[in-house]
Amino acid sequence: MSCALPNGSGSLPPMAVPPDYHMHTPLCHHAVGEPTEYAASAKRAGLEEIGISDHSPMMRDDFDDWRMSRDDLDPYVEKVRRAQRDHPDFRIRLGLEVDYLPGHEDWIREIAARHPWDYLIGSVHYVSDSWDLDNPKKLSEWKKRPPFEVWSAYINRLTQAAASGLFDFIGHADLCKKFCYYPEQDCTPLFRHFLETAKRAGVAIEINTAGLRKDCKEMYPSPAILAMAAEIGVGLVFGSDAHAPGEVGMDWAAAVELARRSGFTHALRFQGRRSEPYAL
Ligand SMILES: [Zn+2]
Ligand SMILES: [Zn+2]
Repeated sequence: MSCALPNGSGSLPPMAVPPDYHMHTPLCHHAVGEPTEYAASAKRAGLEEIGISDHSPMMRDDFDDWRMSRDDLDPYVEKVRRAQRDHPDFRIRLGLEVDYLPGHEDWIREIAARHPWDYLIGSVHYVSDSWDLDNPKKLSEWKKRPPFEVWSAYINRLTQAAASGLFDFIGHADLCKKFCYYPEQDCTPLFRHFLETAKRAGVAIEINTAGLRKDCKEMYPSPAILAMAAEIGVGLVFGSDAHAPGEVGMDWAAAVELARRSGFTHALRFQGRRSEPYAL
C-alpha cells in the first residue's frame, strides 16, 4: 500500500528523467550484473535514480528455478547497500518484485516486514500454481486452452493483487500478451475493473519497456490500458525490467512519450514505501 507524501506547496520536485524501478540481479539465475553495475550504467544513460527489484523468494525454494532462494534475501539487500555505498552521489532504491499468488499473502507480509523496502512490485506471472505464463519453456500450455481463459485468469489475479494492499505498484499489467496469444473477446471491462480496484487501493501501475524486446513488441501495458489508467487516475511508475546493466533505462524517451500521449501528467517515485509525484 502506498500513501502520498504531503505536498502542501503544490510544487513538484524536478525530475528530468523518470527513475527506473525495475531491474534484476544474478540471484534470480537469469540476469547478469550486480546492482553497482546497473547504477553505473544508469548514470551513463543520464538517469537520476533507480531501484533494484529482483524476484522475491517463495515459501519453498523448489517452487521454480528463476528467483532468489530464501537464504539469498539478506545477501540481496547487502548487494543493494553496497551499490549505494559505491555511488553516494546517486539515488538507489531498495525494491523487490514479488510474485502474487492467492494464498501467499502471509508469506508476502513476512518478506515485507523483513527489510526497509522502498517499494514492492506486485507481479503476476503464475495463473495457476504450476504455470508461469511468461515462461518460454511452457509455451505448450498456451495451446491447451483458449487465450481468453488465460487472460481472464491473469487479469483476475492482477485485480486480487491490487486489492490485497500488499504492493506499491503492479508490474507489467498485461504480461499475458508476451507470446502474442491474443483473445478474440474484448478484455477491456476486465482491465477497467483491475484499474478501478488499483485506484481505490492506492496502488500504481508500471509502464514496462521490456515488452518491446519480446514477441509482442509493445510496452506493458498497452496504450489502450494506459489511457484508461490515466483517465481513472491510477499512479504511474517506469521500469525497464533490465536483466543486464545495458538494459537500464532502455526506450525511456519512448516510454515518457507514450505516458504523456496516454494522458499522464505526473508519475511517482518511492522512498520507504511512500510515494511522491513528479511532473512528466
Ligand atoms: Zn516480472
Ligand atoms: Zn522483472
